[in-house]
This record gives sequence, C-alpha cells and structure tokens, in this order.
Amino acid sequence: MSKELEAKKQESKDSNVNESLSKEEKRRKAKIRKKCESEQLIVSEMIELFCRKKHGSSKGEPCASCRELIDYAKLRSSKCPFMETKTFCANCKVHCYKPEMREKIREVMRYSGPRILFSHPLMATWHLITSKREKRRIAKEEQKKASTAKTT
Ligand SMILES: [Zn+2]
Repeated sequence: MSKELEAKKQESKDSNVNESLSKEEKRRKAKIRKKCESEQLIVSEMIELFCRKKHGSSKGEPCASCRELIDYAKLRSSKCPFMETKTFCANCKVHCYKPEMREKIREVMRYSGPRILFSHPLMATWHLITSKREKRRIAKEEQKKASTAKTT
C-alpha cells in the first residue's frame, strides 16, 4: 500500500516536472518549427528559381528532378537535429544530404543564392546575415577547440 502511494507521489511529481518542461519545450519547438519552415520556404524558392532558368519550367511547376530535390530538402530540414543551433542547411557542417543531392543543392545555391536577392530581398538578406553569423560562429568554435586542444 505504502509502496503504491509512493509510486503515485512520484508520478505526480514527475508529471509536474513534465508540465513545466513541456511549456518551455513547446516554446522552443515552436521557434524551431518556424525556423524550419522559413528554411524550407527559401530552399524551395531557390530550387524553383533555378529550375525555371535552367530547366525551362514554368512558375510553380518545377521539373520532376527539382521537385524531388525540393521534397528531399524539406525532409532533411524537418529531420535536422541541429535546427535549433544552425542557421541554414547549406551552412551546416554536418552534411546530412546524400552526395548526389548535396551536389544538386550546391548547384542551386550557387545559381539562386545571388539571384534571389532581386525577387526576395528580405529573404535573401536574412539568409546572408544568418549565413555570415553562422560562419563566424563555426570559425570561433573551431578556434576555441583548437586552443583548448593546445592547452590540454
Ligand atoms: Zn528542374
């Protein structure tokens, strides 16, 4: 009996912790989801732009191969375990794209990156700023790692 009671107490304690955690967690997740959504939006815009110019597709109707790339990019982005800390899949140092898709997305970025400035100045600016910030952060981290490696 007393064991049961204890278990119940423990349970309620746990659920309390979970509740306060889940609020924080929810907020965090919402933030990540928003980031993820904007990344997906930009990436698909970039792929569509690339496809229109390079593959002659019409607006909103990318060719089969680009359609596949969009789906792939969205999937990767939604599964990215680093969404919270990184800014953009293209900058991520963990390369979760398979080589074939990675080559494709790089080609798209090279082409659409500078060009999207004209159609989506805000988006592109955001991308530019976060990319630079990310690169700086990665460089700093690597510097730190290098210096701690030296001292130890
Ligand atoms: Zn295409």
